[in-house]
Amino acid sequence: MFMDSIISRVILPGVGPVCPECLSRGHLPALRLSPREVYSFGLTEPQSQLDWDVDAARALIAARPRTTQRLDPVWLNNWLTERTSVTAEHLDHIPADKLDEPAILVEIMACPPGASPQPFRILIDGTHRAASKQRDRQDCWAYLLTEEEQRSICTYRVEGQVVEVSTFPGRGVGEREAGIILRSAAASDAVA
Ligand SMILES: [Zn+2]
Repeated sequence: MFMDSIISRVILPGVGPVCPECLSRGHLPALRLSPREVYSFGLTEPQSQLDWDVDAARALIAARPRTTQRLDPVWLNNWLTERTSVTAEHLDHIPADKLDEPAILVEIMACPPGASPQPFRILIDGTHRAASKQRDRQDCWAYLLTEEEQRSICTYRVEGQVVEVSTFPGRGVGEREAGIILRSAAASDAVA
């Protein structure tokens, strides 16, 4: 049911073949692009697309510190092999000081045909860092956005038209599940 279109090779006039991952991250100094990082995930039935603003996700995480969660190796392996596409050559382009930056996860409710909606996690940032960690048999860690946060940075299109994300009452990742470090009520009372 899930699809994701991936460009595996980009050839630029006057530049030649470039790594599409480096291109999308603005890592090619010859090119004056100022990319805004967006992660897109395509769904079928109905034909739709979710776009998350990754720069905005990083800003949300910076504004509300939270703990990281270790990605389950089985889940990660499934994600990397079934749900996304990894540009193998890019694994060796990741700057060493970026390798340990935690990935970013969101959770949506997805409805398999004929079944009821179930939580479905999507790695909106860090797929290649995670693939590199997995290749080197290291643990991979991620931040999880709350339901409110992921909605605030997500654009949902059905058959090309922007629509409201449909809601499933009573579900969704809360602040505690996202590991957000909440200021205790006692501490804020003391300040007041
Ligand atoms: Zn690259």
